[in-house]
Amino acid sequence: MTDQGFRMPEMPDFPLNDPPAPEPPVPPAAPPVSQPPQMQQPVTQIPEIPRIQPIPPVQPIPPVQSVQPVQPDQSVQPIPPVQPVQPVQSVQSVQSDQPVQPVSQGASASPDTPTQINPAGIPATPIPPVQPRPVYPQNPYAGPAQQAMPQPPFRQPVPPPRNTVPPVPRTYDDFSPDTKRILALPPITTREAESCRHRLENRWYRRLILLNVFLIMLTIALVATSMDDYRKQVANLTASVLADAAHGSDDEDDDYEETSRADYEEFAEDLPLGFQMLGYGIALMTIGYIALYYLNAQVRAQSIKITENSFPELHALIRSYASRLGVPIPDAYIVNESGVLNAFSAFLYRRQYIQINSEIVEVAYREHKDMNALAFVIAHEMAHIYYGHATLHYNVWIWFSTRLPLFSQIASRTREYSCDRLAQRLTNYDGLGAMLMLIADRHLYHMVDVQDYLNGAARETGFFIWLVNLFSDHPIMTKRIRALADWNGHGELY
Ligand SMILES: [Zn+2]
Repeated sequence: MTDQGFRMPEMPDFPLNDPPAPEPPVPPAAPPVSQPPQMQQPVTQIPEIPRIQPIPPVQPIPPVQSVQPVQPDQSVQPIPPVQPVQPVQSVQSVQSDQPVQPVSQGASASPDTPTQINPAGIPATPIPPVQPRPVYPQNPYAGPAQQAMPQPPFRQPVPPPRNTVPPVPRTYDDFSPDTKRILALPPITTREAESCRHRLENRWYRRLILLNVFLIMLTIALVATSMDDYRKQVANLTASVLADAAHGSDDEDDDYEETSRADYEEFAEDLPLGFQMLGYGIALMTIGYIALYYLNAQVRAQSIKITENSFPELHALIRSYASRLGVPIPDAYIVNESGVLNAFSAFLYRRQYIQINSEIVEVAYREHKDMNALAFVIAHEMAHIYYGHATLHYNVWIWFSTRLPLFSQIASRTREYSCDRLAQRLTNYDGLGAMLMLIADRHLYHMVDVQDYLNGAARETGFFIWLVNLFSDHPIMTKRIRALADWNGHGELY
């Protein structure tokens, strides 16, 4: 319909010498071009498109070099008021009758030509500029138009940075100067090692043993005094079960099972306290002992064992400590604990082992090449082994008393002071860097002003500081670091 008016001036192929052809009759029903479509004309008149004059062949359009963004000031005429959109039903019919030009050809029209779509001059929202799509180099899916576009220079992939881990020191000559200094230290006599103990450690160990014995004796006494009650309860339960059994044998009543279960539950709830404590203690020891092996298996299954070939420098340190203290060389493992800076020593039936978290090892080999801090941490764990803190016979005597709060934590703090002091003797190093590393993490501890920290730590007092320290397994850092700075193994317990 309206296309007919546009196409008429574009037919340049008429011969000029031919007699003028009569003007084609204009269908009277065609509305003027400038008039908007009428409401009463349904979309179903689209099949009239075949009446359009044949379109001359269009010259092939060169590939699009770049899509010019449509400038809002280039007077894109407002779009005429759009009639209510009808469901698209005749698109297929249009394509079947007349080849539809690709959209890209329409987009290549000169933007200078104002669009004659809306002669009514109704303002419309400006069309945002079209952002060119990014073209990636060597895109195998790019079309011809994109292939013709200027390609950015191909960038060579940047190789990953080379591993900055220094080569593992294999021989003594490769060891760090701090390691060589520690390895050259003389042996420690038993008297010297004992002098490093906190003066209250043995006293608190004996108190824990007494407390442990008291708990066991209390359990036995409670069991003995409640034996009569226990016998009465067993007799009642037996009578009840027999009665229920007799009742249940007559008729298979469902109440039989319910009654027996209720009797048993009542019996278990009314069990004398002594029996309950006895059962709890036996279960605690059994589970605890099994857990030791389970924990050790976990470590062995997911760790790197320190050997003469893997981390020989650390193995040399452990061997040196064991030799100077006169104890067997314990197994030592490096475990990834997701950034937790820690180490501990543990025991099995007749063996001890040390677990060192990998982050501390990285401090020695990657962050600050601080072998002193790592050597101090290992020496602290070796001190636990030397003093017997990580043995079965040491712990079995205090098995139950260490489950009580407060007492076990005070005793634990004395052990930590002892091991810190012996680690200082083993390394001839104050250990402040190792402690600050536990506080400020592996990156920042070297930035701490030690004297400023000590001055501030001396002022950290008060009831709540005292309370925090009271319920801690380890001395709070302010007290522990001050004891290390003073090379004093008798730090404040409270
Ligand atoms: Zn410790």
